[in-house]
Amino acid sequence: MVLEATGHPPIVLDLGTGLRFWGDTLDATEPFRGSALVSHLHFDHIQGLPFFPPVLCPGTRFDVYAPPQPVEGSVEGAFSAFLRPPFFPVTAEELPGDIRFHESWNVDLDLDGAKVMVREVPHVGPTSGYRIEAGGATVAYIPDHQMPAAGPLTVSDGVLELCEGVDLLIHDSQYTVAEFPAKSTWGHCTAEFAVQVAREAGARRLVLFHHDPSRDDAAVDEILTRARGLAPGTGIEEVLAAHEGLVISLG
Ligand SMILES: [Zn+2]
Ligand SMILES: [Zn+2]
Repeated sequence: MVLEATGHPPIVLDLGTGLRFWGDTLDATEPFRGSALVSHLHFDHIQGLPFFPPVLCPGTRFDVYAPPQPVEGSVEGAFSAFLRPPFFPVTAEELPGDIRFHESWNVDLDLDGAKVMVREVPHVGPTSGYRIEAGGATVAYIPDHQMPAAGPLTVSDGVLELCEGVDLLIHDSQYTVAEFPAKSTWGHCTAEFAVQVAREAGARRLVLFHHDPSRDDAAVDEILTRARGLAPGTGIEEVLAAHEGLVISLG
């Protein structure tokens, strides 16, 4: 997923497989300049990086921000653990483009004029959510969010801070209410919980994201219909389901 605002270099949200297709739309002869905000290093959030065409272009500068990595010691160390043979033919340093890894955790960043808030999000392992203000619009990105497995459905202060009054909230919605009890500690939440987060934070639009890989379009539509049914009276103006190629214009 990518945020584009006039006058700002692009900000990539996680490095999933979609990165390759977006990279194909760029001018391959021009060095790329941009940043990535990585929520955490589970495979589904990083495996697009080595296949991002601009990393093959000399002069490219790609700044990758991610949470601390206690197991490998550093963000760079963790990426290097899979960006090397036998998982990939070359290492990150051997790629012609310059990829720089940065640790960021519960801080506020300025990315070429875009204001970025980084806060911890409950999931499995160190995980960040992001709030980005650029081009007069505000977007919150919470792709993987462990909802409380039992007891009151409290939303963490950090998540509420990220989502407060945003124009667009992109949020985990992996499970149905019926599925959740069997996977209640797997790091995710229901679409109903995504609506609750949007409502409590005063988000204007909600995009249901991180669909369970087993869903077909009809199953996603069913979840979307239920979530839309919860929106009236909450202040949420629109609920959408993310899909490949979706473009949303803000402002
Ligand atoms: Zn995850
Ligand atoms: Zn994930």
